[in-house]
Amino acid sequence: MVLTALAEEKGFKMINAEKIRLDFPILEEKVGGKPLVYLDNAATTHKPGAVLDRLIEFYTRMNSNVHRGVHSLSREASGAYEGARETVRSFIGARSAKEVIFTRGTTDGINLIADIFRETVINAGDEVLVTEMEHHSNLIPWQAACAKKGAVLKVLPFDGEGRLKTDELDGMLTDKTRIMALSYISNVLGTENPVKDIVRTARSRGVPVLVDGAQAVQHIKVDVRELDCDFFVFSGHKMYAPTGIGVLYGKKEWLDRLSPYRYGGGMVNSVSLDRSEYAEAPFKFEAGTGSLAEAVSLAAAIGYMDSIGMEGIKEHERRLSEMLCERLAGIGGVTVYGPPSGRRGVVSFNLEGAHPYDVGTLLDKMGIAVRTGTHCAEPVMKRLGVPGTVRASFAVYNTEKEIEKLAGGVKKIRAIL
Ligand code: PMP
Repeated sequence: MVLTALAEEKGFKMINAEKIRLDFPILEEKVGGKPLVYLDNAATTHKPGAVLDRLIEFYTRMNSNVHRGVHSLSREASGAYEGARETVRSFIGARSAKEVIFTRGTTDGINLIADIFRETVINAGDEVLVTEMEHHSNLIPWQAACAKKGAVLKVLPFDGEGRLKTDELDGMLTDKTRIMALSYISNVLGTENPVKDIVRTARSRGVPVLVDGAQAVQHIKVDVRELDCDFFVFSGHKMYAPTGIGVLYGKKEWLDRLSPYRYGGGMVNSVSLDRSEYAEAPFKFEAGTGSLAEAVSLAAAIGYMDSIGMEGIKEHERRLSEMLCERLAGIGGVTVYGPPSGRRGVVSFNLEGAHPYDVGTLLDKMGIAVRTGTHCAEPVMKRLGVPGTVRASFAVYNTEKEIEKLAGGVKKIRAIL
């Protein structure tokens, strides 16, 4: 009751996760006869009925290709698809829906920008700046681009608490830096990086910034205009929407300036045998048929999250991660990685004397799904000096009871070591 009053005072609704669970059919599944405790949400979240219904509705009521037909179904599908673009625009606070490009996901969006930059912006001797806590998806495309062009990849390190050493940022930016790419929230450490400040510093030096929001959009309210970043990418499947759909936001000035990187139908105004005139953004970056039903379902996922409220989601997940950290600290022999406060969405840890895979396998026997391994962030593992971690990650449907079950499971494993 006290928490509810506090939430109301702050102007948001407290989450009733038990009630929310009823929206997710898969949560009724049993694993080895035990109720499923799903704590692998950073890898992918489950989908609520509202999203699944929309996916089926698209195929049963309006399935047709978009932008290409004058017939009614095509017009309806086009309306739903462009409506979804507008929903995304509003969700991330972009100025115009023309700044919203549909992609297959975060990796696809980063590759799109890295490819275009490699072809048109980055030259021999130039520099690209990333951070030490990047997911491979926001590291390898830049590594490859630099290798191909003879450019230098520079890396902003993180400190012992898992926070970026932002005091070193200014010194790492030079007049040769062509782009900086960093994650908003680390998928291993849960660190929420001070992106707004980093963007301000980089842009004051004339360096554009790409923000990997794969672990942010489902946990906190994102406003790309407030962040003032040049590019922002995320995946639908980590925010209650289907796989195969993602978003690349780009500032209009950039999208107007950059050439397309894939060619084909749907991205042109006129074509003759010797030349083509490209359409304007976003279409010039969306050659071929996109993930139509998935885009429309992404809008349903945004509607679902909006109906719950991002502030409530943030507060709920903060409580779960604090609770888990407290419980783990009480067990002994557990190392938790990442910042002691302000952690978002994930808690990574290891149990002394146990390999993370063994911990994950034993937890699975108890019906508890966590992720184990390097989490596609091998440089982070190297820096932590571990072969991998156990990672619990949260969504709006996780409950305190599930956190108790996980902590209880870890305690049992500790007892048998
Ligand atoms: N960046 C981060 C921070 C991530 O956590 C992930 C997914 N684990 C990705 C990028 C890649 O996302 P996707 O596989 O959906 O392209």
